[in-house]
Amino acid sequence: MKKIAIIGGGASGMACAAMLANSISASVTLFERGERLGRKLSATGNGQGNLTNAYMGASFYRSDDLQKVERLLSRFGTEDTVRFFSEMGGIYLPDAKGRVYPAGKQASALTDLLRKTLSRQGVKTVLQTKVSRISRDLTVYYAENQRDRFDAVVLCAGGMAAPNFGTDGNGYALAQSLGHTLVPCTPSLVQLRTDPALVRGLKGIRVDGTVCVLRKGRPVYTTRGDILFTESGISGDACFRASAHAKEGDVLSLDLLPDVKEEELYRVLSKNDGEETLLCVVNNGLGRVLYKRANGEKSALVSLLKAFLLPVKGTLGFAYAQVTKGGIPLAETDDDLQSTLCKGLYFAGEILNVDGDCGGYNLQWAFTSAYAVSEGIKGCF
Ligand SMILES: Cc1cc2nc3c(=O)[nH]c(=O)nc-3n(C[C@H](O)[C@H](O)[C@H](O)COP(=O)(O)OP(=O)(O)OC[C@H]3O[C@@H](n4cnc5c(N)ncnc54)[C@H](O)[C@@H]3O)c2cc1C
Repeated sequence: MKKIAIIGGGASGMACAAMLANSISASVTLFERGERLGRKLSATGNGQGNLTNAYMGASFYRSDDLQKVERLLSRFGTEDTVRFFSEMGGIYLPDAKGRVYPAGKQASALTDLLRKTLSRQGVKTVLQTKVSRISRDLTVYYAENQRDRFDAVVLCAGGMAAPNFGTDGNGYALAQSLGHTLVPCTPSLVQLRTDPALVRGLKGIRVDGTVCVLRKGRPVYTTRGDILFTESGISGDACFRASAHAKEGDVLSLDLLPDVKEEELYRVLSKNDGEETLLCVVNNGLGRVLYKRANGEKSALVSLLKAFLLPVKGTLGFAYAQVTKGGIPLAETDDDLQSTLCKGLYFAGEILNVDGDCGGYNLQWAFTSAYAVSEGIKGCF
């Protein structure tokens, strides 16, 4: 019987194991360095498990080969993900923004379903076991001096985001030892830092606004959604999306009242004076800070409301990021995500140079890539 090793028991590794065990007669071994499978998956979507999005397409991703991403999404997209999970059990519904969650809104239930399926399918799960080396003949080295030869190896070791879940980037070294290169990695879907003085007094205030990333004064990306002020910058889903496009030296221009035109604002602000000027216009805490900063001057207030400028000083880093931008280039894989440098080695998930927007796109990529790999291996055996 053919033997397949999957390295990394996260979203893509578990899905790939389940897809393979369901469709071919082969022995599937899943190596996970942590104590449990799917620890990160269980924390996704604020613990609610936003597994995909009804609005799908390569435009929601960044990669060295978006056409390949589009092709792979057309082979396994939103409906396929929902079907894949529905066949294991459960109900999956989109919210108003297209974000699909299990009806019970528990990410850990997704992990439990996958875990149960793997155990029913007879997938051999090897926990608390870090793979330290893969050789060109597909021998996998693990634990203390143990090794095993496989007919296919799938590297699903994730990226560098949220290393507390076991993803410290060691998977890149495994791939690099077999000749792969690495698109430089940066944290994405992460809080952006600015000069703390510019957000003093605003911590905890949430606004539905627009974030525009300005580079040398020109807009490079604009998005609308939740902006949450923090001690050192901003967070929230609009900030997370912007973080995929912003870099140090850029300036964020926040429109804190995107549905109200400047002329209308002047008209409204002329009705009151003093600290009451912004009552029922914005959150009171935000109003007090803006009023002080504008010295009560109406045109300065309008400027602050429509273009609140925050120079980007960086991010909170990988420890706080949801996903890694960069990774193993798609250019070094074929259409089933098999390495073009080491036959029989495949990649799935965040380890690849594909990162998606906030809203279920990264888990969708984990499942899409897992499917491509499972089909590729099936075709070879
Ligand atoms: C807090 C948080 C919330 C998120 N929310 C969402 C969301 O709502 N929707 C969404 O689409 N995306 C979300 N994401 C992103 C998404 O979780 C990841 O993109 C996705 O889990 C990546 O799947 P993966 O299988 O590639 O890697 P991971 O799920 O990170 O799994 C990789 C696994 O490999 C193991 N491993 C690493 N090296 C080795 C080794 N050498 N040997 C053995 N095992 C190893 C690790 O321990 C880990 O378990 C979120 C991320 C975070 C951190």
